[in-house]
Amino acid sequence: MNIRDIALKNITAIRPYQPGKPIDELERELGIEHSIKLASNENPQGPSPAVVDALSKAVADVTRYPDGNGFALKKALAHFYQITPEQITLGNGSNDVLELAARTFVSAQDEVLFSQYAFAVYPLVTQAIGATAVIAPAKEYGHDLDAMTTLVSDKTKLIFIANPNNPTGTVLAPEAIKAFLEQIPDTVIVVLDEAYLEYADQRVNTLDWLTEHANLIITRTFSKAYGLASLRVGYSVSHPDVADMLNRIRQPFNVNSFALAAATAALADQAYIEQTKQLNDKGMRQLENGLHDLGLSTIPSKGNFIAVDVGLQADKVFQALLQQGVITRPISNYGLPRHLRVSIGLPTENARFLSALKVVLEAIA
Ligand SMILES: *Cc1c(COP(=O)(O)O)cnc(C)c1O
Repeated sequence: MNIRDIALKNITAIRPYQPGKPIDELERELGIEHSIKLASNENPQGPSPAVVDALSKAVADVTRYPDGNGFALKKALAHFYQITPEQITLGNGSNDVLELAARTFVSAQDEVLFSQYAFAVYPLVTQAIGATAVIAPAKEYGHDLDAMTTLVSDKTKLIFIANPNNPTGTVLAPEAIKAFLEQIPDTVIVVLDEAYLEYADQRVNTLDWLTEHANLIITRTFSKAYGLASLRVGYSVSHPDVADMLNRIRQPFNVNSFALAAATAALADQAYIEQTKQLNDKGMRQLENGLHDLGLSTIPSKGNFIAVDVGLQADKVFQALLQQGVITRPISNYGLPRHLRVSIGLPTENARFLSALKVVLEAIA
């Protein structure tokens, strides 16, 4: 008997999520030091001082369970976005909420619709349920909302849209997403994943759409611009009845007390977000210019990362960059075998990546 044979077939078929390579792991494997990681779209600045302060204060309460309802964080978010706490569902990262949405609304007989080159977690949560993934072809690496509309069937229960999208960085005009929502039956849940919203210069407040569209769930995170990736805290904003449903299946203490305290402090420090945005804009220009100078083409990105076409085998370039102590992210698992995704780092990190890439490409040529 093979113990794997008694696991559910949809689970056996899953290819696990591949995270960015941790710095410690690379340095252990190669016996090197001073590596840099531009692989997981983290904030390169380090945490806001307000977060460090909140974390040290939270230490004293570590023997207590966290507030399972996240009262203070929900109150702060509600105030910040002019919504009600009842619309908010907190998650262990926004990935947690993406999964809660799928588990709440989708059965094994249903279809989940998303775009080619969409975030890897969408197929994962779909497969975990045993539902069918329907993948709409992309247009210029971005979501093609018309193609997606055509693929909505009687079985479609949930649609994932990331704006900006990861790993491509492409954006949709908010007006186009609004028009898409008007076309979708109100019995189909639409998850709008705004993990990179803070970078995107978006002037439309998508939360306003919730009054008209009870089938809309908007997810956001503290992992990217807010710089709290390690703490695992994200949330969704939805109709209160949707939040009530999600709440029934989430783990009672899915967000720990450090994450709650840090996120509340991070939200209050909007100067940090401003600074993050400026640093990112500058770093994006630095990487775009540097990559174009190397004769490479990039996908225009509104996130804190950029996908660059490095030629035939990006996996090889990725490996060679590791030898130089530079961690990037190959995205062949997304069907983009010639692209590397590079997170925007500090100016020195961006420069080091560019010169390492130059060396690597010359050696391969
Ligand atoms: C990073 C990311 C998330 C959020 O991840 P969490 O750390 O779980 O909040 C969600 N969606 C996309 C598209 C992402 O790239």
